[in-house]
Amino acid sequence: MITIQYLEPAPETASLQPDEVILKLQQALDRLPFTHLLIGWEIPERILEACKKFTEQYAIKFLRWHPLLTYNQEPIDPALRVINLYNQPISGFQNLPEFTFFCPNHPEARERILANLSVQIQTGLYDGFFLDRIRYPSPSTDPYRYLGCFCLSCQEIARDFNLDFVNVRSELLQAEHKAQFLPSFLRYLAAAQPHHPAVQPLPEFQRFMRFRSQSITAILKEVIAEIKGKNLEVGLDAFSPSLAYMVGQNLDEITPLADWTKVMSYAHTMGPAGIPYELSQLAQFIKQSTLWDEREILTALSHAFDLEIPDMFEKLIRAGLSPSSLAKEVERAVQRSPKPILAGIELVEIPGVATLDNIQIEQDLQAVKAVHPDGIAISWDLWHIPLERLELFRRIWS
Ligand SMILES: [Zn+2]
Repeated sequence: MITIQYLEPAPETASLQPDEVILKLQQALDRLPFTHLLIGWEIPERILEACKKFTEQYAIKFLRWHPLLTYNQEPIDPALRVINLYNQPISGFQNLPEFTFFCPNHPEARERILANLSVQIQTGLYDGFFLDRIRYPSPSTDPYRYLGCFCLSCQEIARDFNLDFVNVRSELLQAEHKAQFLPSFLRYLAAAQPHHPAVQPLPEFQRFMRFRSQSITAILKEVIAEIKGKNLEVGLDAFSPSLAYMVGQNLDEITPLADWTKVMSYAHTMGPAGIPYELSQLAQFIKQSTLWDEREILTALSHAFDLEIPDMFEKLIRAGLSPSSLAKEVERAVQRSPKPILAGIELVEIPGVATLDNIQIEQDLQAVKAVHPDGIAISWDLWHIPLERLELFRRIWS
Protein backbone atom coordinates (compact mmCIF):
# COMPACT_ATOMS: atom_id res chain seq x y z
CA MET A 1 0.00 0.00 0.00
CA ILE A 2 1.40 3.36 -1.01
CA THR A 3 -0.60 6.54 -0.48
CA ILE A 4 0.09 9.99 -1.85
CA GLN A 5 -1.37 13.20 -0.42
CA TYR A 6 -2.02 15.93 -2.92
CA LEU A 7 -3.00 19.62 -2.90
CA GLU A 8 -3.25 20.91 0.61
CA PRO A 9 -5.11 24.27 0.50
CA ALA A 10 -2.75 27.11 -0.35
CA PRO A 11 -3.20 30.53 -1.98
CA GLU A 12 -1.84 29.18 -5.29
CA THR A 13 -4.18 26.14 -5.39
CA ALA A 14 -7.14 28.20 -6.60
CA SER A 15 -5.30 29.28 -9.75
CA LEU A 16 -3.95 25.84 -10.70
CA GLN A 17 -4.99 24.40 -14.04
CA PRO A 18 -6.21 20.79 -14.40
CA ASP A 19 -3.51 20.09 -17.01
CA GLU A 20 -0.60 20.89 -14.72
CA VAL A 21 -2.20 19.05 -11.79
CA ILE A 22 -2.72 15.91 -13.88
CA LEU A 23 0.75 16.16 -15.42
CA LYS A 24 2.37 15.97 -11.98
CA LEU A 25 0.14 13.00 -11.06
CA GLN A 26 1.08 11.20 -14.26
CA GLN A 27 4.78 11.89 -13.71
CA ALA A 28 4.44 10.56 -10.15
CA LEU A 29 2.62 7.41 -11.27
CA ASP A 30 5.23 6.75 -13.98
CA ARG A 31 7.85 6.66 -11.24
CA LEU A 32 5.91 5.01 -8.45
CA PRO A 33 2.75 2.88 -8.67
CA PHE A 34 0.77 4.32 -5.75
CA THR A 35 -2.47 2.71 -4.59
CA HIS A 36 -4.30 5.64 -2.96
CA LEU A 37 -4.63 9.31 -3.84
CA LEU A 38 -5.55 11.37 -0.75
CA ILE A 39 -6.90 14.55 -2.28
CA GLY A 40 -6.91 17.88 -0.43
CA TRP A 41 -9.95 19.79 0.76
CA GLU A 42 -11.26 23.11 -0.61
CA ILE A 43 -9.84 22.58 -4.05
CA PRO A 44 -11.62 23.84 -7.18
CA GLU A 45 -14.27 21.52 -8.64
CA ARG A 46 -12.60 21.23 -12.07
CA ILE A 47 -9.39 19.99 -10.45
CA LEU A 48 -11.20 17.58 -8.16
CA GLU A 49 -13.03 16.07 -11.13
CA ALA A 50 -9.87 15.77 -13.22
CA CYS A 51 -8.09 13.96 -10.36
CA LYS A 52 -11.06 11.64 -9.83
CA LYS A 53 -11.05 10.72 -13.51
CA PHE A 54 -7.32 10.04 -13.37
CA THR A 55 -7.70 7.65 -10.44
CA GLU A 56 -10.55 5.79 -12.13
CA GLN A 57 -8.45 5.30 -15.24
CA TYR A 58 -5.68 3.60 -13.23
CA ALA A 59 -7.83 1.90 -10.55
CA ILE A 60 -6.31 4.03 -7.79
CA LYS A 61 -8.42 4.67 -4.68
CA PHE A 62 -9.64 8.25 -4.35
CA LEU A 63 -9.93 9.37 -0.73
CA ARG A 64 -10.73 12.79 0.65
CA TRP A 65 -8.02 14.17 2.92
CA HIS A 66 -10.42 15.55 5.51
CA PRO A 67 -9.32 17.73 8.47
CA LEU A 68 -11.93 16.46 10.92
CA LEU A 69 -11.68 18.78 13.92
CA THR A 70 -10.58 21.94 12.11
CA TYR A 71 -12.69 21.92 8.95
CA ASN A 72 -15.11 24.83 8.75
CA GLN A 73 -16.09 27.23 5.97
CA GLU A 74 -15.30 30.21 8.20
CA PRO A 75 -13.10 30.71 11.29
CA ILE A 76 -14.37 28.59 14.17
CA ASP A 77 -16.52 30.50 16.69
CA PRO A 78 -14.35 30.93 19.83
CA ALA A 79 -17.16 29.40 21.93
CA LEU A 80 -16.82 26.10 20.01
CA ARG A 81 -13.04 25.96 20.19
CA VAL A 82 -10.83 24.03 22.57
CA ILE A 83 -10.58 26.05 25.80
CA ASN A 84 -7.48 26.24 27.97
CA LEU A 85 -6.86 26.10 31.72
CA TYR A 86 -7.44 29.86 32.02
CA ASN A 87 -10.81 29.72 30.15
CA GLN A 88 -9.36 31.18 26.93
CA PRO A 89 -10.07 29.70 23.49
CA ILE A 90 -6.86 28.21 22.09
CA SER A 91 -5.72 29.85 18.88
CA GLY A 92 -4.24 27.81 16.07
CA PHE A 93 -0.60 27.46 15.06
CA GLN A 94 0.34 30.90 13.65
CA ASN A 95 -3.37 31.78 14.07
CA LEU A 96 -4.17 29.69 11.01
CA PRO A 97 -7.80 28.50 10.73
CA GLU A 98 -6.58 25.11 9.45
CA PHE A 99 -4.86 24.62 12.81
CA THR A 100 -7.70 25.96 15.00
CA PHE A 101 -9.65 23.16 16.64
CA PHE A 102 -13.25 22.43 17.58
CA CYS A 103 -13.82 20.99 21.05
CA PRO A 104 -14.71 17.33 20.40
CA ASN A 105 -17.25 17.32 23.25
CA HIS A 106 -19.21 20.53 22.66
CA PRO A 107 -22.64 19.46 21.31
CA GLU A 108 -22.83 22.26 18.73
CA ALA A 109 -19.28 21.61 17.58
CA ARG A 110 -20.00 17.89 17.23
CA GLU A 111 -23.07 18.67 15.15
CA ARG A 112 -20.95 20.86 12.87
CA ILE A 113 -18.19 18.26 12.58
CA LEU A 114 -20.66 15.53 11.62
CA ALA A 115 -22.58 17.78 9.23
CA ASN A 116 -19.36 18.86 7.45
CA LEU A 117 -18.42 15.25 6.95
CA SER A 118 -21.88 14.13 5.92
CA VAL A 119 -21.95 16.69 3.07
CA GLN A 120 -18.73 15.19 1.74
CA ILE A 121 -19.96 11.60 2.07
CA GLN A 122 -23.08 12.50 0.11
CA THR A 123 -21.14 13.83 -2.88
CA GLY A 124 -20.48 10.20 -3.76
CA LEU A 125 -17.15 11.34 -5.13
CA TYR A 126 -14.88 9.52 -2.74
CA ASP A 127 -13.91 5.90 -2.15
CA GLY A 128 -13.19 6.80 1.44
CA PHE A 129 -11.85 9.34 3.90
CA PHE A 130 -8.40 10.02 5.23
CA LEU A 131 -9.09 11.73 8.55
CA ASP A 132 -6.55 14.37 9.53
CA ARG A 133 -6.60 16.72 12.59
CA ILE A 134 -8.11 14.01 14.79
CA ARG A 135 -6.67 15.56 17.91
CA TYR A 136 -6.35 18.52 20.25
CA PRO A 137 -4.08 21.48 19.45
CA SER A 138 -0.51 20.51 20.25
CA PRO A 139 0.45 21.93 23.66
CA SER A 140 4.18 21.88 22.86
CA THR A 141 4.63 25.68 22.62
CA ASP A 142 3.39 26.16 26.17
CA PRO A 143 1.89 23.05 27.74
CA TYR A 144 -0.09 25.12 30.22
CA ARG A 145 -1.59 27.67 27.79
CA TYR A 146 -2.16 25.32 24.85
CA LEU A 147 -3.54 22.35 26.76
CA GLY A 148 -7.29 21.74 26.48
CA CYS A 149 -10.10 21.28 26.74
CA PHE A 150 -11.53 22.84 29.91
CA CYS A 151 -14.86 24.02 28.49
CA LEU A 152 -18.19 23.52 30.28
CA SER A 153 -19.24 20.67 27.98
CA CYS A 154 -16.02 18.82 28.70
CA GLN A 155 -16.42 19.54 32.39
CA GLU A 156 -19.90 18.00 32.37
CA ILE A 157 -18.87 14.86 30.48
CA ALA A 158 -15.79 14.48 32.70
CA ARG A 159 -18.12 14.09 35.70
CA ASP A 160 -19.29 10.78 34.21
CA PHE A 161 -15.66 9.69 34.51
CA ASN A 162 -15.60 10.88 38.15
CA LEU A 163 -13.21 13.60 37.10
CA ASP A 164 -13.70 17.02 38.67
CA PHE A 165 -12.11 19.91 36.75
CA VAL A 166 -11.82 21.93 39.98
CA ASN A 167 -9.27 19.37 41.18
CA VAL A 168 -7.47 19.22 37.82
CA ARG A 169 -7.16 23.00 37.73
CA SER A 170 -5.87 23.36 41.25
CA GLU A 171 -3.31 20.60 40.75
CA LEU A 172 -2.08 22.13 37.48
CA LEU A 173 -1.97 25.68 38.81
CA GLN A 174 0.06 24.46 41.76
CA ALA A 175 2.54 22.71 39.46
CA GLU A 176 2.65 25.50 36.87
CA HIS A 177 6.19 26.60 35.99
CA LYS A 178 7.72 24.75 38.96
CA ALA A 179 10.83 22.83 38.06
CA GLN A 180 10.27 20.11 40.66
CA PHE A 181 6.99 19.09 38.98
CA LEU A 182 8.29 19.26 35.42
CA PRO A 183 9.67 15.71 35.01
CA SER A 184 6.33 14.24 36.19
CA PHE A 185 4.31 16.74 34.20
CA LEU A 186 6.19 15.86 31.01
CA ARG A 187 5.83 12.14 31.61
CA TYR A 188 2.06 12.31 32.06
CA LEU A 189 1.82 14.62 29.08
CA ALA A 190 3.69 12.07 26.99
CA ALA A 191 2.18 8.77 28.10
CA ALA A 192 -0.72 7.14 29.92
CA GLN A 193 1.78 4.79 31.50
CA PRO A 194 5.10 6.59 31.72
CA HIS A 195 8.21 4.59 30.96
CA HIS A 196 9.96 6.06 34.03
CA PRO A 197 8.23 6.38 37.41
CA ALA A 198 7.00 9.89 38.22
CA VAL A 199 8.66 11.49 41.25
CA GLN A 200 5.91 14.02 41.98
CA PRO A 201 2.54 12.36 41.49
CA LEU A 202 -0.02 14.43 39.55
CA PRO A 203 -3.00 12.05 39.69
CA GLU A 204 -5.68 14.52 38.54
CA PHE A 205 -3.60 15.62 35.57
CA GLN A 206 -2.96 11.98 34.66
CA ARG A 207 -6.72 11.29 34.70
CA PHE A 208 -7.42 14.46 32.73
CA MET A 209 -5.00 13.31 30.03
CA ARG A 210 -6.81 9.95 29.90
CA PHE A 211 -10.16 11.74 29.61
CA ARG A 212 -8.84 13.75 26.65
CA SER A 213 -7.78 10.67 24.73
CA GLN A 214 -11.12 8.99 25.50
CA SER A 215 -12.86 12.06 24.05
CA ILE A 216 -10.92 11.76 20.78
CA THR A 217 -11.63 8.03 20.62
CA ALA A 218 -15.35 8.69 21.21
CA ILE A 219 -15.77 11.19 18.38
CA LEU A 220 -13.74 8.99 16.04
CA LYS A 221 -16.01 6.03 16.80
CA GLU A 222 -19.05 8.09 15.86
CA VAL A 223 -17.52 9.53 12.70
CA ILE A 224 -16.07 6.24 11.49
CA ALA A 225 -19.45 4.52 12.00
CA GLU A 226 -20.95 7.11 9.60
CA ILE A 227 -18.30 6.46 6.96
CA LYS A 228 -18.36 2.69 7.35
CA GLY A 229 -22.15 2.79 7.13
CA LYS A 230 -21.67 3.83 3.51
CA ASN A 231 -19.11 1.07 2.89
CA LEU A 232 -16.31 3.55 2.44
CA GLU A 233 -12.66 3.17 3.44
CA VAL A 234 -11.18 5.03 6.45
CA GLY A 235 -7.56 5.91 7.05
CA LEU A 236 -6.27 7.94 9.99
CA ASP A 237 -3.52 10.54 10.17
CA ALA A 238 -1.93 10.06 13.60
CA PHE A 239 0.96 11.78 15.33
CA SER A 240 4.16 9.78 15.69
CA PRO A 241 3.72 7.24 18.55
CA SER A 242 5.92 9.08 21.05
CA LEU A 243 4.02 12.38 20.50
CA ALA A 244 0.49 11.04 19.95
CA TYR A 245 -0.69 10.99 23.56
CA MET A 246 0.28 14.64 24.02
CA VAL A 247 -2.38 15.59 21.44
CA GLY A 248 -5.01 13.20 22.80
CA GLN A 249 -4.41 10.20 20.56
CA ASN A 250 -4.26 6.78 22.20
CA LEU A 251 -3.04 4.61 19.33
CA ASP A 252 -4.15 1.42 21.11
CA GLU A 253 -7.72 2.70 20.99
CA ILE A 254 -7.90 4.48 17.65
CA THR A 255 -5.95 2.27 15.25
CA PRO A 256 -8.42 -0.67 15.57
CA LEU A 257 -11.27 1.64 14.47
CA ALA A 258 -9.93 2.40 10.97
CA ASP A 259 -8.85 0.35 7.96
CA TRP A 260 -5.32 1.68 8.33
CA THR A 261 -3.38 4.40 10.11
CA LYS A 262 -0.57 6.58 8.88
CA VAL A 263 1.85 7.68 11.57
CA MET A 264 3.44 11.07 10.91
CA SER A 265 6.94 10.05 11.87
CA TYR A 266 8.42 13.19 10.37
CA ALA A 267 11.98 13.03 11.65
CA HIS A 268 13.19 16.26 9.98
CA THR A 269 10.18 18.58 9.85
CA MET A 270 10.12 21.96 11.59
CA GLY A 271 6.34 22.39 11.47
CA PRO A 272 3.27 20.98 13.26
CA ALA A 273 3.53 17.21 13.89
CA GLY A 274 7.22 17.26 12.90
CA ILE A 275 9.14 15.55 15.71
CA PRO A 276 12.03 18.10 15.85
CA TYR A 277 9.50 20.94 15.81
CA GLU A 278 7.29 19.62 18.61
CA LEU A 279 10.25 18.65 20.81
CA SER A 280 12.15 21.89 20.23
CA GLN A 281 9.04 23.90 21.16
CA LEU A 282 8.83 21.98 24.44
CA ALA A 283 12.57 22.43 24.95
CA GLN A 284 12.23 26.21 24.55
CA PHE A 285 9.35 26.26 27.01
CA ILE A 286 11.39 24.36 29.60
CA LYS A 287 14.36 26.65 29.02
CA GLN A 288 12.21 29.66 29.85
CA SER A 289 10.71 28.06 32.96
CA THR A 290 13.82 26.52 34.56
CA LEU A 291 17.55 26.99 35.00
CA TRP A 292 18.26 23.65 33.33
CA ASP A 293 20.92 23.54 30.63
CA GLU A 294 20.32 22.13 27.14
CA ARG A 295 21.54 18.67 28.03
CA GLU A 296 19.28 18.44 31.10
CA ILE A 297 16.29 19.64 29.10
CA LEU A 298 16.81 17.18 26.26
CA THR A 299 17.48 14.34 28.71
CA ALA A 300 14.19 15.10 30.49
CA LEU A 301 12.37 15.09 27.14
CA SER A 302 14.09 11.92 26.03
CA HIS A 303 13.01 10.16 29.26
CA ALA A 304 9.45 11.50 29.16
CA PHE A 305 8.87 10.61 25.50
CA ASP A 306 11.03 7.47 25.60
CA LEU A 307 12.80 8.60 22.49
CA GLU A 308 16.43 8.91 21.51
CA ILE A 309 17.03 12.56 20.60
CA PRO A 310 20.16 14.66 19.95
CA ASP A 311 21.75 16.30 23.00
CA MET A 312 21.88 19.85 21.56
CA PHE A 313 18.97 22.08 20.48
CA GLU A 314 20.79 23.08 17.33
CA LYS A 315 21.40 19.45 16.35
CA LEU A 316 17.76 18.51 17.00
CA ILE A 317 16.56 21.32 14.72
CA ARG A 318 19.20 20.91 12.00
CA ALA A 319 19.61 17.13 11.82
CA GLY A 320 16.38 15.81 13.37
CA LEU A 321 16.14 12.21 14.51
CA SER A 322 18.59 9.46 13.60
CA PRO A 323 17.43 6.70 11.22
CA SER A 324 17.36 4.20 14.12
CA SER A 325 15.28 6.52 16.28
CA LEU A 326 12.85 7.05 13.39
CA ALA A 327 12.60 3.30 12.78
CA LYS A 328 11.86 2.75 16.48
CA GLU A 329 8.92 5.15 16.20
CA VAL A 330 7.44 3.29 13.22
CA GLU A 331 8.07 -0.07 14.88
CA ARG A 332 6.16 1.02 17.98
CA ALA A 333 3.09 1.72 15.90
CA VAL A 334 3.45 -1.53 13.95
CA GLN A 335 3.69 -3.55 17.17
CA ARG A 336 0.74 -1.81 18.82
CA SER A 337 -1.77 -1.87 15.98
CA PRO A 338 -3.90 -4.82 14.91
CA LYS A 339 -4.57 -2.98 11.62
CA PRO A 340 -2.14 -1.89 8.87
CA ILE A 341 0.31 0.88 9.74
CA LEU A 342 1.70 3.18 7.09
CA ALA A 343 4.94 4.97 7.83
CA GLY A 344 4.43 8.62 6.96
CA ILE A 345 7.77 9.67 5.51
CA GLU A 346 8.39 13.29 4.63
CA LEU A 347 9.67 13.75 1.07
CA VAL A 348 8.62 17.36 0.53
CA GLU A 349 11.10 20.17 0.03
CA ILE A 350 9.74 23.28 1.76
CA PRO A 351 12.36 25.85 2.79
CA GLY A 352 12.36 26.47 6.54
CA VAL A 353 10.07 23.48 7.16
CA ALA A 354 11.62 20.41 5.53
CA THR A 355 15.01 20.51 3.86
CA LEU A 356 16.09 16.99 3.05
CA ASP A 357 19.00 15.34 1.29
CA ASN A 358 19.24 12.09 -0.61
CA ILE A 359 21.70 10.37 1.72
CA GLN A 360 19.49 11.05 4.73
CA ILE A 361 16.34 9.95 2.84
CA GLU A 362 18.03 6.72 1.81
CA GLN A 363 19.25 5.95 5.34
CA ASP A 364 15.83 6.71 6.81
CA LEU A 365 14.03 4.52 4.28
CA GLN A 366 16.42 1.59 4.78
CA ALA A 367 15.88 1.79 8.56
CA VAL A 368 12.09 2.04 8.23
CA LYS A 369 11.96 -0.80 5.70
CA ALA A 370 13.66 -3.08 8.23
CA VAL A 371 10.77 -2.74 10.72
CA HIS A 372 8.20 -3.82 8.10
CA PRO A 373 5.37 -1.27 8.09
CA ASP A 374 2.37 -2.38 6.01
CA GLY A 375 2.87 0.50 3.64
CA ILE A 376 4.20 3.98 3.12
CA ALA A 377 2.41 7.32 3.10
CA ILE A 378 4.42 9.61 0.82
CA SER A 379 4.23 12.88 2.74
CA TRP A 380 2.82 15.16 2.78
CA ASP A 381 1.99 16.83 -0.48
CA LEU A 382 3.07 15.59 -3.87
CA TRP A 383 2.93 19.16 -5.18
CA HIS A 384 6.04 19.92 -3.08
CA ILE A 385 7.88 16.64 -3.70
CA PRO A 386 10.73 16.59 -6.25
CA LEU A 387 10.04 13.72 -8.68
CA GLU A 388 13.52 12.22 -8.29
CA ARG A 389 12.70 11.48 -4.64
CA LEU A 390 9.92 9.15 -5.83
CA GLU A 391 12.48 7.32 -7.96
CA LEU A 392 14.83 7.12 -4.98
CA PHE A 393 12.02 5.74 -2.84
CA ARG A 394 11.08 3.11 -5.43
CA ARG A 395 14.67 1.95 -5.78
CA ILE A 396 15.02 1.43 -2.03
CA TRP A 397 11.56 0.04 -1.33
CA SER A 398 11.30 -2.55 -4.11
ZN1 LIG B 1 -14.42 21.17 25.52
